[in-house]
Amino acid sequence: MKLAGLQKTSVIDFPDQISAVVFTQGCNFYCPYCHNSQLIPLKLPPGKESMPEKYFFDFLKTRKNLLDGVTITGGEPLLQPDLKEFMLKIKNDYELLLKLDSNAANPKKLKELIEADLIDYLAVDIKFSWANYGKLAPNDLISKIKKSAALIIDSDLDYELRTTVVPGLHDKAEIEKIAQQIEGADKFFIQNFRPINTLDPDLRKQRSFAPSELEEFKITAEKYLENVEIRD
Ligand code: SF4
Repeated sequence: MKLAGLQKTSVIDFPDQISAVVFTQGCNFYCPYCHNSQLIPLKLPPGKESMPEKYFFDFLKTRKNLLDGVTITGGEPLLQPDLKEFMLKIKNDYELLLKLDSNAANPKKLKELIEADLIDYLAVDIKFSWANYGKLAPNDLISKIKKSAALIIDSDLDYELRTTVVPGLHDKAEIEKIAQQIEGADKFFIQNFRPINTLDPDLRKQRSFAPSELEEFKITAEKYLENVEIRD
């Protein structure tokens, strides 16, 4: 595993659980609003080393009684070839719950993890309507993301689908298309954009959406989805 960092305690990443958050290095998307752009390159810059797995597991050994689970985020965790073994170790040796954050571009691997019963909570970004996905992901991944979305919606998993909404990139019509394409999903979160440390420097000057605009998006999404929440 290429581990990029560790947040030792979080009460907000894993719903209803206290979790440690571990960040993986490397992502196959290039979201202009990404806050973790240093995690996008698969290879670390010269002189920078990834966090040894031993450091992470030594930490878990000392803290496991204070934690309910571990959130694995990125970057894109599904790019890590040994993710399954890493998750198995956390589950079997430390008996902790697992939350996985993903961009869903690898349905085969996702299916394997679901079938192995390794995911207690899954959070997947649905970033745009399918027609607009090419703004931040290679075109050959779009059919895979669609496949993952269908797999998740059909599963018994505890999951959320979510969209980070950015002025200039998302509007009511776009939210309507996103909600329509994930009709039947259990939970959908509309997350407000924050202009902090974004991959595209121009977005650092962009505003966030106003509460009234987010509420309008929520009402629009509710035409297709039963459970829509705003994260502001
Ligand atoms: S998928 Fe996540 S980590 Fe990857 S570029 Fe987009 S926001 Fe950043």
